[in-house]
Amino acid sequence: MATTPDASTHELVIIGSGPAAWTAAIYAGRANLNPVLYEGEPVGIDLPGGQLMLTTDIENFPGFPEPISGPALMDRMKEQALRYGVRVESELIVEADLSQRPFLLKPNYGAPIRAHAVILATGAKAKWIGLENELRLAQIGGGVSACAVCDGALPHFRNKVLAVVGGGDTAMEEATYLTKFASEVLVIHRRDSFRASKAMASRVLNHPKIRVLWNTQVVDVLGDDVIEGVRLKDTVTGDERDLAVGGLFVAIGHEPNTGFLKGQLETTPHGYVVTTPGRTATSVPGVFAAGDVIDDYYRQAITSAGTGCMAALEAERYLAHHGIGESPVVETSETVVCAADAAPTIGLSGVQAAVGAAYGEPAVEPRG
Ligand SMILES: Cc1cc2nc3c(=O)[nH]c(=O)nc-3n(C[C@H](O)[C@H](O)[C@H](O)COP(=O)(O)OP(=O)(O)OC[C@H]3O[C@@H](n4cnc5c(N)ncnc54)[C@H](O)[C@@H]3O)c2cc1C
Repeated sequence: MATTPDASTHELVIIGSGPAAWTAAIYAGRANLNPVLYEGEPVGIDLPGGQLMLTTDIENFPGFPEPISGPALMDRMKEQALRYGVRVESELIVEADLSQRPFLLKPNYGAPIRAHAVILATGAKAKWIGLENELRLAQIGGGVSACAVCDGALPHFRNKVLAVVGGGDTAMEEATYLTKFASEVLVIHRRDSFRASKAMASRVLNHPKIRVLWNTQVVDVLGDDVIEGVRLKDTVTGDERDLAVGGLFVAIGHEPNTGFLKGQLETTPHGYVVTTPGRTATSVPGVFAAGDVIDDYYRQAITSAGTGCMAALEAERYLAHHGIGESPVVETSETVVCAADAAPTIGLSGVQAAVGAAYGEPAVEPRG
């Protein structure tokens, strides 16, 4: 039975505004799912647009041979989504009841809304030390970052002394990665041993370009337009000293933005949403998740965009399967596709034809 949503019941609500959310919105908009996207609100350094709002030059997003700034890339993604009729609400979703159908969502200010399907693309927050100049320089591209893989290769960091703060696996990875570009890497750790795995720690400890400053804390970041150094405090003696560095990478962890879900779906011990391997389906049917909120490993814009695409395709099939929206469905052994568009055969080519047709693409004859 096809259901027409009333004014406050939406076919699909997307929560988030990073690469995962906008990609999901583009796909869902083009598939006529009338998606409504809650992009969040500015809270401290968290801005609608996600983590890339905190970075200047992005050199690794395909399609941009010249570097593009994070905010400019996010503007372009949003503009593309708006082109396909996505409705954007500039509010946070602060509560969700995933036990009801349709799902019930509470925006920060507006009246509660309902959704037949939800895509969670709320990302994860990189943890910062919390120093005023650290955050200011991170925002203006002044040589402070929370992602070595993203920013380490930028010209600004080449052949300089770079500092990495942290003592876990991420810090070890970031430090080792930065040795490709830095003249020297200093790992600054407030304790006298790492909590990283033995193997990762020993790579750092034995690397000729890495030096560890034990029992040391960064208490200030120095520099106006660009970082010039850090003020360090010895955690044992309390002594302070300044140290010249050409870059600071904060690697003290990430926090997935899942607090508002209050444990209503399966998460890892660190709060990342668990999905079916290779898919974006969560433990609650009809709720899909994409981007850094499911990923504590790759944490890249392109991988987030990829899973955003997957989530939209899975949500579309879920809605069709439940007769919500435009298309009745037929199930194949592999997946659920739209009956009107499905090729008669069951198997990959049939599924591809159906998916192509659902997105307004002409059927492609198999080659050879
Ligand atoms: C300093 C830095 C530099 C980086 N540089 C690069 C780079 O050069 N290349 C690269 O590929 N990757 C880079 N990354 C990683 C990249 O930013 C992330 O992998 C990517 O942004 C994750 O995208 P996402 O869509 O999962 O969500 P995010 O970008 O994390 O965005 C999610 C957003 O959703 C919104 N939101 C959260 N909760 C709610 C809610 N309850 N309701 C409504 N909205 C909500 C918030 O605005 C949040 O920021 C960088 C990361 C950092 C920190």
